[in-house]
Amino acid sequence: MSFSHLGLSEKVLAAVAATGYKTPTPIQDQAIPHVLARRDVLGIAQTGTGKTAAFVLPMLTMLETGRARARMPRTLILEPTRELAAQVEESFIKYGVNHNKLNVALIIGGVSFDDQDAKLMRGVDVLIATPGRLLDHNERGRLLLSGVELLVIDEADRMLDMGFIPDIERICKLVPFTRQTLFFTATMPPEIRRITEQFLSNPVRVEVSKPATTVAATTQLLARSGRDGAEKRDTLRRLIRSAEGMKNAIIFCNRKRDVATLHRSLLRHGFSVQALHGDMDQSARTAALEQFRKNEVTLLVASDVAARGLDIPDVSHIYNFDVPIHADDYVHRIGRTGRAGRNGTAITIVAGSNDAKAIAAIEKLIGQPIPFMDKIAGTPAEPQHEPRHEARHEQRHEPRQTARPPQRGRHEQQRRPRQPEHRPPSPQQPAPVARIEEARSRRAPQPVHKPMDDGDASHLPAFLLRPVTVKA
Ligand code: AMP
Repeated sequence: MSFSHLGLSEKVLAAVAATGYKTPTPIQDQAIPHVLARRDVLGIAQTGTGKTAAFVLPMLTMLETGRARARMPRTLILEPTRELAAQVEESFIKYGVNHNKLNVALIIGGVSFDDQDAKLMRGVDVLIATPGRLLDHNERGRLLLSGVELLVIDEADRMLDMGFIPDIERICKLVPFTRQTLFFTATMPPEIRRITEQFLSNPVRVEVSKPATTVAATTQLLARSGRDGAEKRDTLRRLIRSAEGMKNAIIFCNRKRDVATLHRSLLRHGFSVQALHGDMDQSARTAALEQFRKNEVTLLVASDVAARGLDIPDVSHIYNFDVPIHADDYVHRIGRTGRAGRNGTAITIVAGSNDAKAIAAIEKLIGQPIPFMDKIAGTPAEPQHEPRHEARHEQRHEPRQTARPPQRGRHEQQRRPRQPEHRPPSPQQPAPVARIEEARSRRAPQPVHKPMDDGDASHLPAFLLRPVTVKA
């Protein structure tokens, strides 16, 4: 089956052909005709399924007629993070090469209001926004949502995790009742179901799992380490140095400050590495991601919020420097590897009994145990503890890209993340190798999480990010 039967315009089909895509993915195949028929769509799909093109391609087709008016966008796409918003903008650029007159604007936190305001004034066909900044523009009277014909709510379950649902509800009430709504979520917790029942009108439900071909077998392993930060960094270095078939790797930390610390440490130890976390300003985040995408650096140290949903193809290794607090994040983290039919390796450093509990919750979620590595090669090739002067050095020098706090509006300062309930983990016996798609298909209700001391919540103001000393 080709793209030609979906009802897309000639301009769009030409752009798709230029990208080299031959066949629509299942979500594209099932959703695009309904979008073009102006139906509401409830898409249950994750990143990696081609869901972005499932709304971008029909939107481009529909926007070929009509014109935008000043301050009144014709369509609105809500994304939970700035990176995802930027990625959707890139899709409009890629698929909209033949739509010269189309105005696409990005309204995200951390960048100047004035530039965004100037864009809104010119008239916008497609407005891609994070919820807080959008509401700030609206309250300043610079943006009217009464002309929105089509609303896309993307990654809705992530919006829920980040505390955006009240904002989403407000926005849904600001756009016309008669609009078309496209709603995408990877999971359907009760709060999301309620939103879909309230704001979608007789939607077509399209549900796809990630195709097996995009996720090859991913070897999942655990590596024991001491609890001390320096010991964990030492373990990580040995894991990286002894890795087989390493092309590039993402290293996940739970806290923004640990991303910065680990980044500095790896640089000092001579690794080619960049960092990505929510305290970095937008240009630094974009630059870091670009360097990693272009293979100019081998390693990317990242936090969950900053890395969620990013389309980084072909990552050979994932390291969980910290066991994720949310078992669900484990699935997302390891989903960065084993893509496009390649093999991937995901290694999680386990340090102490709290980590062991979190691993049990993850194993319960993915429905299978994760084995420990027998021994890490190169033990101990270097001192277990980093020299004292390094620790002092780490405290003195902040990396440049973390220096400037993002510019925030009122709504960007009010949000609180959801605090899900606790579920006890289940102990299980290890066995080798798991497949990510199996984990995905078993995605359970929100697993164990408790609020943590300094999670990466780039949308949150500093006073909400101060330590609250509660540990999972
Ligand atoms: P998404 O789920 O939207 O993040 O898309 C994941 C990746 O799939 C992106 O790199 C897209 O460029 C790519 N993609 C989207 N549609 C297709 C298609 N029909 N054939 C091949 N690749 C695609």
